[in-house]
Amino acid sequence: MTNLLLTNVRPDAGSAGNILIENGRIAAIGSNVTGPDGITVVDGKGAIAIAPFVEAHVHLDKILWGLPWHSINVPDSLRAMIDNEVEIRRSLPWSVAERAGNLMRQCVANGSTHIRSHVDISPEYKLDNLHGVLAAWEKTKHAVDLEIVAFPQLGMLIEPGTAELMEAALDEGASVIGGIDPASVDGDAKGHLDTIFGIAHRKQAKIDIHLHERGELGLYELGLIAERAKALGMQDKVIVSHAFCLGTASRDELARMMDLLAEAGIGIISAVPGDIPFPPMFELADYGVRCAVASDSLRDTWNPHGNGDMLERCWLLSWRSNCRTDAELTAALDMGTKRGADLLDLAGHGLDVGCDGSLVLIEGENQAQIVVDRPKRALVVKRGRIVARDGSWIDGGGV
Ligand SMILES: [Zn+2]
Repeated sequence: MTNLLLTNVRPDAGSAGNILIENGRIAAIGSNVTGPDGITVVDGKGAIAIAPFVEAHVHLDKILWGLPWHSINVPDSLRAMIDNEVEIRRSLPWSVAERAGNLMRQCVANGSTHIRSHVDISPEYKLDNLHGVLAAWEKTKHAVDLEIVAFPQLGMLIEPGTAELMEAALDEGASVIGGIDPASVDGDAKGHLDTIFGIAHRKQAKIDIHLHERGELGLYELGLIAERAKALGMQDKVIVSHAFCLGTASRDELARMMDLLAEAGIGIISAVPGDIPFPPMFELADYGVRCAVASDSLRDTWNPHGNGDMLERCWLLSWRSNCRTDAELTAALDMGTKRGADLLDLAGHGLDVGCDGSLVLIEGENQAQIVVDRPKRALVVKRGRIVARDGSWIDGGGV
């Protein structure tokens, strides 16, 4: 089903009208728009229509959701949590494909129709996590687009063979090369970055680096990343996830970094952590630095929280950023929708004629109110096909 007429909907909470989707694309929008005889018609009952959410950073291979509650009782240190996860994943009763499929369906039910997922690559895992996530996607690809980051969670230089496996992952479905805390995980910031930039440049892949390192070290590494992006002509192809160092930078340091990030086309993703200073997202956006929010790790051996709902992540940003006006709350919503699409360079995202026929209907008064109240998604449409209704995934998609 790729043809659909939605009646009585309010694009971006504006005036009520109809949206015609033909051959998977928005063909017309307006109060008098109709469709050809026999087209499926859905009454939107005055719901707000928005372009879909973009889940720009998640870990589909790590999810434990659906399994018995997992109690986290390891020290709050990166190495301890890495080792703990490896141990637990050796004996999980469900496959990567089963677990990843669960989370993908949940993301779609909450209105995300594009996911960028990191998958762990290591000599122990080999490419098994990549293959498991791709197997899950075989059953959901009508509802969600997927980008995969080959992620060296266990370290790269300290785990010989990892870089070669990451490069091999690019030939088997991944399109982004990951990195993690270059100095503290691998103990060689320049060596780590030179390796991942080398692979990405050679294979024309994008880059997405987890950077938790704080203070001066984090800022120094952001500088190294920007330097390499510019030298290799990779502007707009590199994202830094978390970048906690920007949350504690002085005004002068922040101004210098924003110049650098904008010039080198480095994007920033934040999961809006609970107790850690995070980048000033709205200030970055106003300055011209591409940025968005995303879920990151959820319901796994790292984090007991999270539910794959990007509207909740937008609310979290608005809460932690003290958004009060309608304009500020609407800007928070954009961080999970339009800005996510811009960050990942998604052609066709939007509610204009010619865009993909993908959208989310939400019952509410306006965009500010839906960020605060987070209503269930009434309908999720992917290229003209209804893939979720009333907050629930529809098996196989349909009407
Ligand atoms: Zn992550």
